[in-house]
Amino acid sequence: MKREALFWERYDSNTVKCLLCPHNCLLKEEQSGICNSRKNENGTLVSLNYGDVVVKKVDMLGKRLLFYGNHEDPVLSLGSWGCNLCCDWCYNWEIARLKPLHLVKKYSPEEIRNEVLYLRKTKGVQTIVFTYNEPLVWVEFIIDICEILKSGIDIVLNTNLHVNEKPLLRIIPFISALNIDLKAFSSFKYALGPKGHFDAVLKNLKLCVEHGKYVEVTFPLIKGFNDDADEFEDLVAFLCEISSEFPLQIRKGYPTYRHFESSPSEDELQYFRAIASKYLKHVELVFEEQ
Ligand code: SF4
Ligand code: SF4
Repeated sequence: MKREALFWERYDSNTVKCLLCPHNCLLKEEQSGICNSRKNENGTLVSLNYGDVVVKKVDMLGKRLLFYGNHEDPVLSLGSWGCNLCCDWCYNWEIARLKPLHLVKKYSPEEIRNEVLYLRKTKGVQTIVFTYNEPLVWVEFIIDICEILKSGIDIVLNTNLHVNEKPLLRIIPFISALNIDLKAFSSFKYALGPKGHFDAVLKNLKLCVEHGKYVEVTFPLIKGFNDDADEFEDLVAFLCEISSEFPLQIRKGYPTYRHFESSPSEDELQYFRAIASKYLKHVELVFEEQ
């Protein structure tokens, strides 16, 4: 489904500028952005994945947030396609980096609302988790769902948080909690690996905390990319400066997509956990593939 995107401006007679994320893509007629999901069509920026649901299932809250609510609480997980980062180790690359149009089912915000209200009655679902691909490149659809839901349903984002401040401030009032994938603690690494802007992600993380949101960080431990113990210590020290209560998941990375290195061993994971535990009270290792 297509819809005019939010957060863009005309740049010149045949170019538009997307203002959703720090890539700020300049798109000529018929060009799509790095995320694949936004395109200049006849001088207007359109969202190509509006209403495109690729994953819709009832999961447990503990699959995304380890230190929030009850692990067993049922949640409605929703995902679409598209992502504005390009991680070689992306476990969901078939929906994040490709357009899996054969998997798409079209939904309106009203249909999602009706489904979640039905699931609340029948299964006790009180939460929607936007996850699997990057939810922030689905921002128009998520905002529309949140606006008609009103209240009574928690909204959780499982996100890379690679977004500009204005769109973040627009969506943040709807959000109860976030799981933020922090892929490294260096501008160089962010530019090299996921090809994103580290400073923007850090600034956004602080902003979410300042707005009183529950924030949990996931650090995917990827051999050959972010397995430098000193850099990791800087990351956990940064989180500790915000609060020693800051929850952290260290996830075991797996060879997948364009990442061919082996997984970190149990000893390496425990070593990183020990570093984190010097600073933070709530640290968990996660072994399952996402
Ligand atoms: S969301 Fe980011 S990657 Fe996608 S078109 Fe906009 S600026 Fe580019
Ligand atoms: S940010 Fe997440 S969804 Fe996007 S490419 Fe990286 S791992 Fe995949």
